[in-house]
Amino acid sequence: MRPSTRREVLRSSAAALGGWLLLGGQPARAQSDAAAGPATGTTGEDPGGPYELPPLPYSHADLEPFISAEVLKLHHSTHHAGYVRAANQAIAALERVRRVGGEEIRQVRALSDNLAFHASGHVLHCLLWTSMKKRGGGDPSKNSDIAQLITRDFGTIEAWRAQFAAAAQQVQGSGWAVLALEPLSRRLLVLQAEKHQNLTVWGCVPLLVVDVWEHAYYLQYQNRRSDYLKAFMNVIDWDSVEARLAQARRLIAGD
Ligand code: MN
Repeated sequence: MRPSTRREVLRSSAAALGGWLLLGGQPARAQSDAAAGPATGTTGEDPGGPYELPPLPYSHADLEPFISAEVLKLHHSTHHAGYVRAANQAIAALERVRRVGGEEIRQVRALSDNLAFHASGHVLHCLLWTSMKKRGGGDPSKNSDIAQLITRDFGTIEAWRAQFAAAAQQVQGSGWAVLALEPLSRRLLVLQAEKHQNLTVWGCVPLLVVDVWEHAYYLQYQNRRSDYLKAFMNVIDWDSVEARLAQARRLIAGD
């Protein structure tokens, strides 16, 4: 049933946005062991707030041999948990600065920077977990919307794959490659992200992401980022990408 009032439209859009991040099936088990240890570059307690660490939608060993259980566990329970904690800290600090006012307002620059980095880290990791699955990979099924859009916008699936892998391989320093739907042209773009928040095109809705921070692969692949990227191609969850594309189109259309 289509929503009939503006309030219902807003409510259903918000639900769709949340769902868009968390697509990828039901969690196999609760693994939100956020308290497992300190995350790189962040300290202090999570004050609570709008962000929570979602459980992985599979068990740690499910992506082996492509992504080791050790890498996946550390990545989720320390690195992602750290972004959640620091994003909540930034939100809480901004609330405090607004309340106290005066000279404290000068902290807005640094806190805005923190918020962009950590909240973007949280969003991208939510998308990463649901970009992968056990026995994934291969090409998207020929008749799927995502396969047809990739073919329209990149020529062939193979040409898209080569550009996506090159974008990931060539990120300077730490970052991501992102397949996104750009809402004005309604075309797919492959973007790089440096750190988590830089080099985006505003308004793009990310559909598929790969993390090329060293914490995503170094324990298993050392400096061989290209081997990690080849392995990643074997765990892509195309069904999840297809579902996210459908939700992105509904969001853009305002349905
Ligand atoms: Mn990461």
